[in-house]
Formats: sequence, C-alpha cells, structure tokens
Amino acid sequence: MKSSIRELKGVGTRKEKLLNKLGIVTITDLLQYFPRAYEDRSRILPIGRVELPMEQAALVCGTVAMMQELRPRRGIHILKVTVVDDSGAVDLVWFNQPFKKRLFKKGMELTAFGKMEWAYGRRQMNSPDTEPGRATVAGFTPLYGLTDGLYQSDIRKAVRSALQRAASEPALLPGWQGGRQVGYSTMSVFVAYENMHFPETMEKQQEARRQLAFEELFDMQLGLMLRRRREGQRHGIKCGPNGTLLRQFIAQLPFTLTKGQVEAFLDIQNDMESETPMQCLVQGDVGSGKTVVAALALAKIVENGYEGALMAPTEILAIQHYEEFSRLFHGLPVRIALLTGRTSAKERKVLLEDLQQGSIQILIGTHALIQKDVVFANLGLVVTDEQHRFGVRQRAALQGKGADPHTLFMTATPIPRTLALSVYGDLDVSSIHDMPPGRKTVKTYAVGEAMRQRIYVFMEKLIAKGQQCYIVCPLVEESETMDLQAATDLYDQLRQGTFRKRRCGLVHGRMTGKDKEAVMEAFQRGEIDVLVATSVIEVGVNVPNATLMLIDGAERFGLAQLHQLRGRVGRGDQQAYCILLAKGGTDETRQRLKWMETIHDGFVLAEKDLLLRGSGHLFGYAQHGLPDLKAADIIGDVDLVIAARDKAAAYLKGSIDEEAVRQALVHRFGNDFQGLLYN
Ligand code: ADP
Ligand code: MG
Repeated sequence: MKSSIRELKGVGTRKEKLLNKLGIVTITDLLQYFPRAYEDRSRILPIGRVELPMEQAALVCGTVAMMQELRPRRGIHILKVTVVDDSGAVDLVWFNQPFKKRLFKKGMELTAFGKMEWAYGRRQMNSPDTEPGRATVAGFTPLYGLTDGLYQSDIRKAVRSALQRAASEPALLPGWQGGRQVGYSTMSVFVAYENMHFPETMEKQQEARRQLAFEELFDMQLGLMLRRRREGQRHGIKCGPNGTLLRQFIAQLPFTLTKGQVEAFLDIQNDMESETPMQCLVQGDVGSGKTVVAALALAKIVENGYEGALMAPTEILAIQHYEEFSRLFHGLPVRIALLTGRTSAKERKVLLEDLQQGSIQILIGTHALIQKDVVFANLGLVVTDEQHRFGVRQRAALQGKGADPHTLFMTATPIPRTLALSVYGDLDVSSIHDMPPGRKTVKTYAVGEAMRQRIYVFMEKLIAKGQQCYIVCPLVEESETMDLQAATDLYDQLRQGTFRKRRCGLVHGRMTGKDKEAVMEAFQRGEIDVLVATSVIEVGVNVPNATLMLIDGAERFGLAQLHQLRGRVGRGDQQAYCILLAKGGTDETRQRLKWMETIHDGFVLAEKDLLLRGSGHLFGYAQHGLPDLKAADIIGDVDLVIAARDKAAAYLKGSIDEEAVRQALVHRFGNDFQGLLYN
C-alpha cells in the first residue's frame, strides 16, 4: 500500500492535482522529489561586507532605520525600508505592494533574505523574504522544480509534513533493506532523506546523495542481473548455420552490405544460433541501413522454419518496410504480409487464418500486430523498429505471441558506448557506425532571422528543379495549441505568399493518425512541394526527393532532435541541406548549432548532447523500462555504477529469495520495471 499525498497536511484537491503534474502521487514519490538547488540561509552576513555582484541570495539582519513611500508616477508605489547593522546599510524595496508597510516599524529588528545589488551607489534588495527579529539560521532552503500555480512554499510544506510522517513510518521512505545493507551508508535512511531536502550543511547533503544514489543504482543493477539470470534459464530457438535462403537473399541484394551491417548481422547470427533467446539492440544513425539487417535476421528465422514479425510505430513506416521487403525477397519462397489498422476486415480474416496455419513467414505491421486474435503458428523472431516509440508492455505483448522468441530492437537514437553497459546492462548492443557508400553529408547552416527571405528564394530554386522541402516550426514549450498556431500561421502565410504557386501541405500533432498519414503519403508521392510541420514529422520516413529541411526556431530543439530531423533529408543522390533558423539564444544554444554544422555522426552528437544536458534527458532511457533515477546520475556517477554492479553481483551469489527481491524492486521502481523483471 502506498500512501497518497492527500494524507498530508495542506495538500487538498487543487495542490494534489498540481503535484500530480510533477509526477508526484504518493508520499514516497514526494520524498524522492529532490530539490534542484538550495539557498544558503546558514549564515547571517554583515550587510556592508556582502560582496557584490553576488551569485546567490544573502541573509542579513539589522535594525529598521527608515521607511519611505515614493510615488514617482501615477500607478507606481515604492516602499523602501532601510536596514542597518554595524557594517553598513541596505534598502529593501517593494514595488506596488503598499500593504507591506504594515509589516515593518522603525527601530524593529529585521531579517531579510534576497539578492543584493548596487542601485545608485547604495546597497539594495528587491522584494526580499523578511521576518521580524533575528532569524535563527535555517541551514539550506530547498528550491524545487515547479509547475504553474505551485509555489516553493507549497512543496516545502508538503515535504516537511511527509518527513514528519516518515519519521514514525519508515516504510514510506523509498528503498529497501537489500541496498541499504550492502551500501556504504553512513547515515540512517531517514537522516539521508532529511539532508536531501533540508541539509544541515552541503557536505551532509552530498554524503546523503551519494548514499541514496548508490542504493538506487544497486537496485537497478540487481534488477538487470535478475532479468539476465532468468533469460539464461530460458530455452530459445537454436538456429542452424546459415543456409540456402539466406545465401540467395544476400546474393540478390541490390547493393553490397556495409561493414557495419555485416558486423551487426554477425552478432545477431551468433545470438540466434545460441541456446538462449537473443535480446539485441541495433543502433545506427538514420539512413545507416538498419532495415536490411532486420531482413537478414528475419530470413534466418524463416530458414529455420519459424515466422518473424516486424513492428513499426506508424502505418506509413510499416508500408514502407513492406514494400522494401517485397523487393528484397522478390522471387524467394517467402510470403510477406502487411497488417495495419487500415487492413479491411475481409482481408484481415484471411490473413489471420493463413498466419495461424504458418503459411505467412514474415508479418509486418503496426500496433495492430499485438491484437489478441493475431496468432502465429511458430513465432521465432520479433523485430521492433524505432523501439523508443513503443512502451515496454507493447513490446512484451508481441513477444508473448511466441514461446521465448528472439528479439531485435532497432533505434536511431544511439547511446554512447561508454554508457551502454550501465544503461542497458542486460541487452546486447550492436552499433552500425558507417553509412552506405555515396551518401553526401547534409550541408548544415545555422542562420539568423535576417536570412529568412533568402532561404525561401533558395527553396524556390530547389522546387523549380523538382525537389521537395520540409519546414519544421518552432516548438512552443508545453503548449501543443501554440505549436499548432505557429505552424498554421506560417503555413497560411507561405501558401498565400511566397509559395502561392507551389503545393503546400501541413501536418501537426493534433491531426488524426489517418489524416497525418494521408498528408505524409501525398508528400511521399511528390504531390506536395513544401511540407510545413510541427515537430511530429514521422520518424524514419523515406522521401529521397526531399532535399531541404528548414528548422524554424532551431534554438528550441535539443541536439538529438535536430539530428533526427536532419535525417529526413539526404536520402537520395542529390545534395541535401539543413537550415537551422535560430534567434540569438544562450552560449549553449550557439554551441549546439555549431556542433550541428560541423558534426554529422549521430553517435558523436549523442555524446555531446549528454555533455550539455546530462543524463536526465537520455533519450529512450525510460522506454527500456528502466527506472527514472532520482538521486543518481548515470553519467556523473560512473564510479557508483561500477561499485553497485559489483555489489549486486556479489549479493546475487548469496542465498536470497529471488521472488522477494523482485517484489521489493517492483515496489521501489514501479510498474514499468515490473515489465522488465517479469517478461
Ligand atoms: P535506417 O537505418 O534509417 O532505418 P534504412 O534501412 O531505411 O535506414 O536504409 C536507408 C536507405 O539505404 C534505404 O533506401 C536502403 O535501401 C539503403 N541501403 C541500405 N543498406 C545499403 C547499402 N549497404 N548500400 C546502399 N544502400 C543501402
Ligand atoms: Mg529505419
């Protein structure tokens, strides 16, 4: 049983909803909602000796020497309270809050906390926090990530009351005995959580964080190892050595496989010929040719008398795969079928019967593949394309249609090798680092708003040559409605203005799947010259004739996303372009755009991305069913990851009740982890 935050003092329906928005549902969640920073209220500083400019807010205390109310203009009220101590004076200033004056009296002792700055040669604090008397120093005050309508004080109050509850009910504290016993705990669990939220000193906070991070990583590694142990006990389909079908398939490929493709397939081949079911992730940049690798694996399973399934995140991708497979397997004794939400009831019925009989060897489709009545005769291999688009449960559902089938995941959002081990722990990762020959790098330019018209002129030239262009519109944070508005405005503007003689199309997240695909298909058929889109452009869509990608508001996108978007072009023989239209932005933004201009390797960009943004944004991480880490940082805490892995391995060697451990881990990390442990 997990206790809801509603049980806490001061959390009513409204605040509960807001906290839910932050992913906080239970008291245990709240205790793990760690501050993103702390304010130092541990020392009272002498007013005259606070060094300016200062980074952090300061705590000062003195006597109110003077109070003034100023009305420099109509509608403006300024309250100025001057506080002095032995070392100097500071003016506390409030704008348009006349009621504040009731809080102060000349001669009273007053504590103030806020940022101090110089104003007209005097020290000043704008709207500081104040309290009468000399404050007892309060240590460090936590600053939490907020959402609209929720204040720091709300979360602080809720956390205090949660800590109070936990003092007498230790079961509310996240974690379990296992990790605590083997960890290098120096504090009691309770004291560790207390110091994460309201640290006595920053040293104690750091000690607490490392302790909790270790426990978290230990638990994660334990889960991954338990899963691996379970996999090891499973009997998979042991395939024979490569035979005629595979040889014919390779012989008739219209191109030579790249080194990366060959190596990836060798890994896969090895795994498929072993006793235990394969669990392999193939990562390769967009356009590196992962589909053929999947086709090779599928040919191998078919050759061994089993069926294979390939699941793609969208209908358009599924169709694209189906068409490519039909070409690649042309003339070979392999029947390939397509099943999507749009397959007619009549066709579907026949198809499902044949499938059950085993007369369809490769079934390609969307989520439609996981419906209950889709039954295979002997499913031996499940391939998931763009796996980050599926949840753990969906993938498990498809795997459940066979008895321990081999599984292959494909992704274009790589994780740097240095990290793969700690993140995937239990998955074999095979990376394709090269590109098919003849690929031209996409020329990438970061430009400012002043260039917009010239870009349009350039686009017009490409279109006149029969090529097509994408325009991706600014991503408006946390507002799909505004995204849509921006895209619609630009679309109308272009189709009535600059590109009125051209065929323009619009695709956005609010459209139904069907409408979206209709537009994408029209673009694919070359019936649209300029496609305006929000950031929803389908992953993996192959339109070789599209040669320009204009990303408007590029400063708002992350590196991984920019690279993914760029991957939509440069798929044909023509030189392709990616234009990053950006407004000013921070140093970080400029750095990001610079990297995009000069780096074209997705793996290298992924590493840069991690440097910039930290592991919290590790793409695809949560989708693997791995827990959202609260105290640990898998990049910064590499030493802890390694220590945790060693301790977890040792722990598993002892006599343990495996099922009890599993349950403790599910209790700790929640349902998605359950998928990882039990499937
Ligand atoms: P992705 O890895 O992004 O899924 P695809 O599998 O869709 O890439 O491949 C992109 C394009 O490259 C396809 O048109 C495919 O036919 C082609 N291709 C794949 N492998 C090779 C190769 N070895 N030589 C030449 N072209 C290839
Ligand atoms: Mg692909």
